[in-house]
Amino acid sequence: KESLTKTRQSFIEKIDQVVTGRTGIDEDLYEELEEVLIQADVGVSTAMKLVERVRKGVKARNVQEASRLKEIFQEELEYLMGEKITPIQLNPEGPTVIMVVGVNGVGKTTTIGKMAHNFKEQGKKVLLAAGDTFRAAAIDQLEIWADRVGVDIIKHQEGSDPGAVAYDAVHAARSRKADILLVDTAGRLHNKSNLMDELRKVHKIVAREMPGAPHEVLLVLDATTGQNALNQVKIFSEAVNVTGIALTKLDGTAKGGVVTSIVTEMAIPVKLIGIGERMDDLRPFNPKDFINALYG
Ligand code: GDP
Repeated sequence: KESLTKTRQSFIEKIDQVVTGRTGIDEDLYEELEEVLIQADVGVSTAMKLVERVRKGVKARNVQEASRLKEIFQEELEYLMGEKITPIQLNPEGPTVIMVVGVNGVGKTTTIGKMAHNFKEQGKKVLLAAGDTFRAAAIDQLEIWADRVGVDIIKHQEGSDPGAVAYDAVHAARSRKADILLVDTAGRLHNKSNLMDELRKVHKIVAREMPGAPHEVLLVLDATTGQNALNQVKIFSEAVNVTGIALTKLDGTAKGGVVTSIVTEMAIPVKLIGIGERMDDLRPFNPKDFINALYG
């Protein structure tokens, strides 16, 4: 709840400011509301959709007072975002393979570490695969998380073939009877077409070595990048079948409104949110809890 303070300030408290000092509801008010939503990174089309719903809600309920706008907005936001919680898909018949993709710096390694911690807490045997072989630091960072959480890691040398890491990791997950295999991948977007080819290849090898896998392809997005995050959904979806989104750094950003546009505009469910740098700062995404936290 406290972790969403900045988003609450940029989003819901701004609605208070728009409403303050007004009595009636007029066109001006709707325009200002739309402006607030766009500023909070809700995105233009979702902002328009929301304002349209608020307008209808006001009419349908025959509301006259500007002071009730926030309450109507909450109802419409709840309607638009829904109540659905979409958990990580687990494979009941053996290891669950989760491939984790995303641009460098979004919090991929940290999210893998947090997931490993959560699964381990649930009594599951977890294995990590250091699939970002492009950067030695990425392998080191993942190893630090493996040590911290107390799980095994499959790694090769820097510069080695990420497909070979994936191959070894899938076989190790089977032979060691792991419940969860978390596969890290590279995220150097400056060489986009090479990166996408590499992700496709890793995906193909995982699928070939274990039919049905990967059971999840989780795209990690950084909430502080606001609407940019939506472009990344499109880019990565073209390469691999992204099955879920983990949205990081929701703590301390004013751009948390981006959750609303991802939920309403993207066909891929937000499954996890990151609300801090520590091991236990990862939560399943629950739209109702999110809205309640925003409304304080
Ligand atoms: P990667 O390059 O995608 O693997 O990114 P990292 O996992 O190394 O994370 C980049 C930075 O973001 C690190 O300093 C992390 O501590 C930080 N980070 C990751 N997730 C979160 C989060 O949910 N909240 C905050 N505040 N920081 C985060």
